[in-house]
Amino acid sequence: MSEGTTPLPATRRMTVIAQDPSIRRPDGRILMAAIDVPAEDLMPGPIGYRVQVVDYDASTGRYRGAHALPVSAEDEPKAWAAGDPAIAGDFRFHAQNAYALVMKTLARFEFALGRRVGWSFKVHQLKVAPNGLMDANAFYSRRDEGLVFGYFPGRGGKTVHTCLSHDIVVHETTHALLDALRERYLDPSDPDQAAFHEGYADVIALLSVFSQVELVAELLRRGPGGRETLEDEHVLAAALGETILFGLAEQMGDEMNAVRGDALRRSARIKPGQDWLNDPEFKEPHRRGEILVAAVMNGFLEAWTSRLQAAKAPEQKRHVLRRVAEEGCDIANALATMWIRALDYMPPVHLRFGDALSAAITADLEARPDDSRFQLRRHMLASFAAYGIEPASTREDAPGAWRHEPGRMNYERVRFESMRTDKDEVFRFLWHNRRKLALREGAYTEVLSVRPCIRVGIDGFTLHETVAEYYQVARLTPAELGQKGIALPPEYVAELERARSDTQARREQSLRAAGEAADAQAEPETDAVTPVYGGGVLIFDEYGKLKYHVHNDVFGSRQTQRLRYLWSAGLLRASAEGARFAPERLAALHRQRAIGARRFPAEGW
Ligand SMILES: [Zn+2]
Repeated sequence: MSEGTTPLPATRRMTVIAQDPSIRRPDGRILMAAIDVPAEDLMPGPIGYRVQVVDYDASTGRYRGAHALPVSAEDEPKAWAAGDPAIAGDFRFHAQNAYALVMKTLARFEFALGRRVGWSFKVHQLKVAPNGLMDANAFYSRRDEGLVFGYFPGRGGKTVHTCLSHDIVVHETTHALLDALRERYLDPSDPDQAAFHEGYADVIALLSVFSQVELVAELLRRGPGGRETLEDEHVLAAALGETILFGLAEQMGDEMNAVRGDALRRSARIKPGQDWLNDPEFKEPHRRGEILVAAVMNGFLEAWTSRLQAAKAPEQKRHVLRRVAEEGCDIANALATMWIRALDYMPPVHLRFGDALSAAITADLEARPDDSRFQLRRHMLASFAAYGIEPASTREDAPGAWRHEPGRMNYERVRFESMRTDKDEVFRFLWHNRRKLALREGAYTEVLSVRPCIRVGIDGFTLHETVAEYYQVARLTPAELGQKGIALPPEYVAELERARSDTQARREQSLRAAGEAADAQAEPETDAVTPVYGGGVLIFDEYGKLKYHVHNDVFGSRQTQRLRYLWSAGLLRASAEGARFAPERLAALHRQRAIGARRFPAEGW
C-alpha cells in the first residue's frame, strides 16, 4: 500500500463524564469514562460531518468561539481523564463532552439499524449548543435543527450545565433520531404514542449510562455490602434496582434532580401492576411514558439477576463486583440494540406499547436468533406483562413476535434491485398488492421511506433487510366516516355543525347586505372533513420477498376510540372547514412534566 492511502482508524477514543459532575470517585474527582466515537477530521467548533457545535448563548448573546478539540486521547489535557472538578467550568471540555455523546448515540443507532441515519430536516449537520440558554432545560428542536442545552445556578453559587450530563445528552439526541426515523410520532394519536417519545428517550439514555462498566461498578460499590465482592442477596433484582436505578437518581444530586432525577426516581418506583395504563393519572402522557421506562428497566434487572444466578458455581455465595458490573453492561448494550432495532418494526403511525413490544421481540429474533445467554425476549415479555402490557401479536414458534405475512404477493411487475431504494418501485409493489395487503381504497397512499440495512448480531451473524414505510390518509365527512364504520364523538359533530352554520349565516348576512341573497342559497357548502391516518412498514428479506407487514388500518376499529380520546384530551377541535388538531402538543406535555418536577421547567422535548 503506497503512502497516503493508509486506511484511517474507524473510531477514536474521547474522554467524557461518566454521568454528571456530581458522581465522584472516593477521592473527590469526577467519575470519567473513555468512549469510542466515529473517527473524523474535525474542524474547530467542533464541526464534523454530522454535528456542528455552536457555543452561542442566546440568554447573554455571547459567542465563546470555535473550540479546537484535541486530535487524540493522548493530546487531551491531563485534567480531563483525571476528572479534575475544574473541568466543569472548561468550555472546551463541554464542547467535547456534548459532541462525543451525540456522535456515540448516532453511531449506536447506525450500528443497530445497520445503515446510515439522517436527521429529520434537510441539513446534514445537527447543531448543538452546549450552553445555549440560561435555564434548567434541554431540548431538541426540529425547527432549529438542533439540540440546546441549558445551564442554571445550583447550590452554593455553582453553575449546573446540562451538557455535562450523559443521560440528558443521550436523551435529547434520541429525540432527534426518533423524530428522523418516525416523523409521524409527534402527531396526535393514542396516549401511548404521545408517551412513547419521552419514555423511549429515557430508556435509551439509561441503557447508555448503564453500558459503562466504571459507572455501574461505582454504583454497586456504594450500595449495601458494596466492596469488591457482593453477597448473593445484593445481586437480586430488587437489590440491584435500589443500588443501580435509585443509586443513580440519588447521585445525580439536588440540582440535576430538577431536570432528570425526579422522573427517574418516579419511573423506578412504579411497582408492577395490571391497572396502571387504565389509571387516570397515567392517561397523562409524561406519566404514561414512565410505565414504559419501568417495564424495560425492570426487565433489565431481571435479565441481569438471572444471568448472574445461571453463571455462578453451585455453592457460590459471593460475586466479584467487577464481573457483576460487566454482565450488567453487556445486557444494557444488548437491550439498547434491541430497542433501537425495534423502531424499524414499529408501525409508522398510531403506535401503542404492545406494538412497540412486538416490534422489539421480532427485531431481536431476526438479528439475534439465539437468545439463550441473556434471554432478553423472555424477560421483556414477562416484565411488560407485569405492567399490564401484552404484545400486539404472537405466534407459536416465537411468543410476542409479529406474524409472518402469509399472503402470496405479486412480485411480477416490480424490480427487486429498485425496491431496495426507490419509493416509486415500492409504491408499485403496494399498488399491485393493495388487496392482499388490505390497503384501503378511498385513502391517499404515500411511501415515506425505503431503507436497505445490514444488521450484525453479537456472534457476527449478518441479516440483510429492506424496510419501507408508507402511510395512508383519508379526509372524510362525518357521514362518509360512518359508512366506513368510524363513529365521531357526538359533541365534536355538534361542534362541526355549529361552526358550519355560523359561517353560513355570516356569509348569507354579508351577501344580503350586498343585495345578493338569492345567490347565497345557490352555492352549496362542502361538508366539513376529518382526516384519519393509517399506514405500515414492509420488511423485505435479502431476496426481496415480503417477511412482515405491520400496519394500522386507516378505516380500522381503533379509529373511533382514538378520535374519542383526542376529543376528550382537547387535541381535536372543530372548525367550519373540519378538524383542527391542536398544535404544539408536546410543548404542553412538557410543561406538565415540569409541574411534576415542581421546581424547574424540565426540558422542551
Ligand atoms: Zn424528552
